[in-house]
Amino acid sequence: MTDLPRIEPKYPDTPPWEQCDLAFVGEAPGRDEVTAGFPFVGQAGKLLDEMLAAAGIDRSLCHITNVFLVRPPDNKVAHFFRSAMLAKRDGITVCTDLPPYNGTYLKEEFLPELERLADELVLLKPKVIVTLGATPMWVFTGLERGITKERGSVYSSKLVPDASVLLTLHPAYVLRNRNEKQTVINDLIKAKQLCA
Ligand code: URA
Repeated sequence: MTDLPRIEPKYPDTPPWEQCDLAFVGEAPGRDEVTAGFPFVGQAGKLLDEMLAAAGIDRSLCHITNVFLVRPPDNKVAHFFRSAMLAKRDGITVCTDLPPYNGTYLKEEFLPELERLADELVLLKPKVIVTLGATPMWVFTGLERGITKERGSVYSSKLVPDASVLLTLHPAYVLRNRNEKQTVINDLIKAKQLCA
């Protein structure tokens, strides 16, 4: 059991949750999220709000969560992974049965995070799952690289039967690459259309 600071997912404001059309899956919380206890409340979250509004999506009706609900040291998602060689050296068990992520493997200690994510989504049965960034892309597709080329693609979900998965960029990336804002808005419009 990790002692990293933990947040809760943000379930839709209005039950029944089973009618939630859209779920958004980010990577892991940062400092602001840990302070608030919920995902996407900091700078990236504010930009996500803006892009959702521009796409005509009501955030309060969506499920907002992360692959990891614990904050990694220095906000580095790499903390959750280890190369097979270093894992062996350090006596850490890694999940070599899962696809690698940037040439590294998920530490077994964090496997319950993926199980918890699947449980959340199976409970909510969203029609469309929007992945924000490379880490959730890896979870849902097994792809370890290529988010800028892959974004906009739609996959069927391995984790949640009947849900479509639409890949898009992480809002933090858009904060650094403002010219991508409209690209993400267009992806969000596509996600909304897929729910119809
Ligand atoms: N980035 C994420 O991936 N998730 C959050 O909750 C906040 C920032």
